[in-house]
Amino acid sequence: MTGRVVVVGSANVDLAVDVPRPPKAGETILGDRLRRSPGGKGANQAVAAALAGGADTSFVGALGDDEGADLILVSLGGAGVRTDLIERAEAPTGTAFITVAPDGENAIVVAPGANDHVRIGAAQADRIAEADVILAQLEIPLDVVAAAAAAKRPGARMILNAAPSRELPDSLWEVVDLLVVNEHEAADLAGEPEKLLKRVPAVVVTLGGEGCAVLRRDEEPVRIPGIPVDVVDTTGAGDTFCGVLAAALAHGHHLPEAARQASAAAALAVTRPGAQAAVPTAAEVAALEG
Ligand code: ADP
Repeated sequence: MTGRVVVVGSANVDLAVDVPRPPKAGETILGDRLRRSPGGKGANQAVAAALAGGADTSFVGALGDDEGADLILVSLGGAGVRTDLIERAEAPTGTAFITVAPDGENAIVVAPGANDHVRIGAAQADRIAEADVILAQLEIPLDVVAAAAAAKRPGARMILNAAPSRELPDSLWEVVDLLVVNEHEAADLAGEPEKLLKRVPAVVVTLGGEGCAVLRRDEEPVRIPGIPVDVVDTTGAGDTFCGVLAAALAHGHHLPEAARQASAAAALAVTRPGAQAAVPTAAEVAALEG
């Protein structure tokens, strides 16, 4: 069975520069090489679900009518993502300004542009209704995330990657089947990850090099250890994780096994520069898992 995933979210042109250290407020520092590459949490996760996760993946997002849009469409298409539901907005394609420090840690500012114009119309709702898993993040308007959740069929799963951190209305909490957050986002939302289980039935907390934790109501937590790798660039690690998690669940795997596959794919992604360019193939993930 090939699982069907619809990713609803942002697409950005990433402008990344290597810096000796992150700049302080009010400071200008000289960086090194500029890299321009396709990114955005939504598009990154769609690439990961298709390429590393092997799912039949559609991306619901919005692009401008510019060169940045072409860069993103080529990347999505190359990974095998279905791009027919993407809206063309009268706004520039979203752009992210990224600094990458020598330890691989990054700092990011996003100019949303076209991402504020993502829409769930009839065609998008039809595709969502056919999906096994819907995956969304918080770089697009919250009412779009809610509309995507409302279009899913009974039995399908709604995964919310609550990144970047922002406050969520009760109406959105109620439609989430699985929340994926890193430690900072978990702290922003609830203080302790366990408290999140009062709001949603299942939570995966990603823990950087330490792997991740799977928390479910009425079940013991499952810890999945990190895979030791040489870190080059952590941009998009969380996105690779989310995309592969969604794909594995759509393929019918249970949550701990899906999280194991997601961890392996994300560990490979941090060994390579870039976001979408760093996403491994399903064969590479399988080889790492042994
Ligand atoms: P985010 O990128 O959203 O901040 P994390 O830093 O928690 O999220 O990373 C997401 C996942 O990527 C982790 O759960 C882990 O599987 C993998 N990962 C991240 N950093 C490393 C690392 N240094 N070594 C191995 N795996 C990593």
